[in-house]
Amino acid sequence: MLLFCPGCGNGLIVEEGQRCHRFACNTCPYVHNITRKVTNRKYPKLKEVDDVLGGAAAWENVDSTAEQCPKCEHPRAYFMQLQTRSADEPMTTFYKCCNAQCGHRWRD
Ligand SMILES: [Zn+2]
Ligand SMILES: [Zn+2]
Repeated sequence: MLLFCPGCGNGLIVEEGQRCHRFACNTCPYVHNITRKVTNRKYPKLKEVDDVLGGAAAWENVDSTAEQCPKCEHPRAYFMQLQTRSADEPMTTFYKCCNAQCGHRWRD
């Protein structure tokens, strides 16, 4: 992806700033900090975790428990627990209906 300077229209280069990388223009003083800091660890949002869990492989070899499916009322569901935000917050339990025809997923 090539970005262009809004001031003079020349292509911007990426250079190392004091705290982060930034786009800079060679011909005028324009700079634009790239705010994404690599050092800041970001925890995935619940939605993203849910998408990750959508992969069939994620549900292989997981235990099942006596949890009723809210969709088809099947009495058992596979479950796994994940730390989704920070270590201070409780684990989130994800369920997947044991009924292969249903496969409904939900979480606590
Ligand atoms: Zn420029
Ligand atoms: Zn179900």
